Amino acid sequence: PPVAVICVGMAGSGKTTFMQRINAHLHEKHQQSPTTTAPPYVLNLDPAVRSVPFDSNIDIRDSVNYKEVMKQYNLGPNGGILTSLNLFSTKIDQVMGILEKRCLPQPPPPQTQPEATTPQQQQHQTTLPKPLPTHILLDTPGQIEVFVWSASGSILLSALASSFPTVLAYIIDTPRTTANTSTFMSNMLYAISILYKTRLPMILVFNKTDVKGEEEAVEWMRDFEAFQAALRKEEEDAMGGEGGGGGGYMGSLLNSMSLVLEEFYNALSVVGVSAMNGEGVGEFFEAVEGKRAEFEREYGPELERRR
Ligand code: GDP
Ligand code: MG
Repeated sequence: PPVAVICVGMAGSGKTTFMQRINAHLHEKHQQSPTTTAPPYVLNLDPAVRSVPFDSNIDIRDSVNYKEVMKQYNLGPNGGILTSLNLFSTKIDQVMGILEKRCLPQPPPPQTQPEATTPQQQQHQTTLPKPLPTHILLDTPGQIEVFVWSASGSILLSALASSFPTVLAYIIDTPRTTANTSTFMSNMLYAISILYKTRLPMILVFNKTDVKGEEEAVEWMRDFEAFQAALRKEEEDAMGGEGGGGGGYMGSLLNSMSLVLEEFYNALSVVGVSAMNGEGVGEFFEAVEGKRAEFEREYGPELERRR
């Protein structure tokens, strides 16, 4: 079966641009060998996006009008997005029906085999079945909490994960996140909370490497002393300017957290990409294969049992 890749991340981290990039990558592969690879099956779950820069097979905006929902229920933007997602999740059975039909092998149509067939018909019958998508790609609302912390988000995630190997791509704005150690730590804690909430395999995607490489972030994750050194330097800089702000409490909190986080980091795949210029996309797909295998190891037997 295809693997479902769900892009989540803070607003502005580059989910939609990244979707566009990996979608284009898979389309290219399809064009290189159209008989053996199919293009991905693509879903947009962001009701508030103005224009989607990729063709989607299922678009939440086709079934709910976010602006109308806001008006009708007298909601602000976040309430409008959440309510739209709730309305969409009531149709999850239909959505899963479509996905299974398009992405899983279908039983062959009943054989109505006449004895005598013309050569043309024989030719027709021996054509290979159309290849199925290898990937299902999902874009989620800009506001991450609306998807990850809502009932409808959970419904959508668990429906997907009960039919397909499912992997989260947590997209990170690298230049912003590595601006200082506390922003970095907040973002990592958010990733952990999503990992524990969803219990799905996760890939950390350090995006925008055309602006700033992922090396520093990766070093902060892999080498706890490097993180502490960066922290100490920030503290010294702050002391120099203001005479003592920030230091003590934040410093020791971040210090002890960096130790606790080691185990979490070990559970993740990490890649640096640029959704803008396509750098790192090959590595991303390798990481997806690794996580697909992890999903099948850990959830596969359970899914088989339920089928
Ligand atoms: P989303 O809210 O997570 O869907 O983020 P978008 O895909 O809409 O991107 C937010 C902003 O980041 C846009 O201005 C993008 O052009 C920009 N952006 C996204 N990916 C990259 C990247 O790899 N490099 C750079 N330099 N900018 C990016
Ligand atoms: Mg977006």
